[in-house]
Amino acid sequence: MISLNNVHKSYATGSNSLHVLKGIDLEIKQGEFVSIMGSSGSGKSTLLNILGILDNYDDGSYYLNGNLVKNMSEKHAAKLRNELVGFVFQSFNLISFKNAMENVALPLYYQGVNRKKRNKIALEYLDKLGLLPWAEHMPNELSGGQKQRVAIARSLISQPKIIFADEPTGALDTSTSYEVMEILKDINNEGITVILVTHEHDIAAMTQKIIRLKDGKIAEIIKNGDLKHFQEQYTKALETA
Ligand code: ADP
Ligand code: MG
Repeated sequence: MISLNNVHKSYATGSNSLHVLKGIDLEIKQGEFVSIMGSSGSGKSTLLNILGILDNYDDGSYYLNGNLVKNMSEKHAAKLRNELVGFVFQSFNLISFKNAMENVALPLYYQGVNRKKRNKIALEYLDKLGLLPWAEHMPNELSGGQKQRVAIARSLISQPKIIFADEPTGALDTSTSYEVMEILKDINNEGITVILVTHEHDIAAMTQKIIRLKDGKIAEIIKNGDLKHFQEQYTKALETA
């Protein structure tokens, strides 16, 4: 599903350039539940934005579902995003003057689906996330957890194969964070690949695979299958992240 080979990314900062990703090699298969962990500024969002074709990289190669993502036109990138990808962000990114249903329906609006049909489908997704009673509410009338569930419903409505989530629990309290992680787990159980970024160890520990970024490289990949090994590796990661 995702294959990166020696991917580099720098940002131009005034007369200097900041080398953020220094050769990333990564394979992620369909159906995986993965977290990208690392300290603040380690390049997690940069990597996620490249994976989601929201940003370009400078060197190396990235294949998404068999497509080489390099020097891609915005039109082609938008088409791939529409077909394959959903996004969830820390700050929810809901449109403040649209109600929950309209926010969820937004991707279908961009696909040209008529209002009646897109709102009907949006209600189905809100229902799936337990938010039907909140359909007519505006974002400022919803709790953080409800807002994130609206955002998740919106990310699902175009039936993506992959959900990219950048610090999806970053603005939520602990118990609401776990609720959101349970939802992402359920989504993953339906076969959707979920790739999230977090700097919180206990959130990362809920995924099947932790990719730890350090100094622009993947320091290690910890699999959550072998529990004893996972605990050892995880403790080590805690110490060095
Ligand atoms: P993380 O998500 O792990 O906190 P980021 O990927 O957001 O880290 O950022 C990695 C580094 O790149 C940071 O030093 C950040 O300041 C810098 N950076 C991120 N985006 C830009 C940008 N658009 N222009 C310049 N520097 C950036
Ligand atoms: Mg970030």
